Amino acid sequence: MVDTVRMGFMVVKRTSLDDPAPSSLDRIRQAGLRPTRQRVALAALLFDGTNRHVTAEALHAEAQAAGVRVSLATIYNTLHQFTEVDLLRQVVVDGARTYFDTNVEDHHHFYFEDEGALADIPGHSIVVSGLPEMPPGTRQARVEVVVRVKGRRQS
Ligand SMILES: [Zn+2]
Repeated sequence: MVDTVRMGFMVVKRTSLDDPAPSSLDRIRQAGLRPTRQRVALAALLFDGTNRHVTAEALHAEAQAAGVRVSLATIYNTLHQFTEVDLLRQVVVDGARTYFDTNVEDHHHFYFEDEGALADIPGHSIVVSGLPEMPPGTRQARVEVVVRVKGRRQS
């Protein structure tokens, strides 16, 4: 059922970004955001049925290539709004680079330093032990591990 919907969504995405599939509209509405044209168009690019890690700059280039007129500032705002309502998760690899992750389940990452790319590591495949006690009044939200990798992946 879900697969059928996703396939339909992908077909629509290829043919027309100005008339987005209900699934990106639904995502935005269900998250409590007003489905502005730009939000819907960006959601259609982001949520293509695969887990993606995008930078604001990369999404901006993608939007331009798809004929979506949107400024980089609007992309940043939209990505942060999507993050606030848990449609995306922010992954900060270093001070200079922030990725937005369409996979909002708990998981970890490989970071390929030479490619500037992230790949998911399932949450259950890394066990972190020896965590300190949380500071008074706080609780642990989650633990994210970034495994930094050198060298290029072979295809
Ligand atoms: Zn991820």
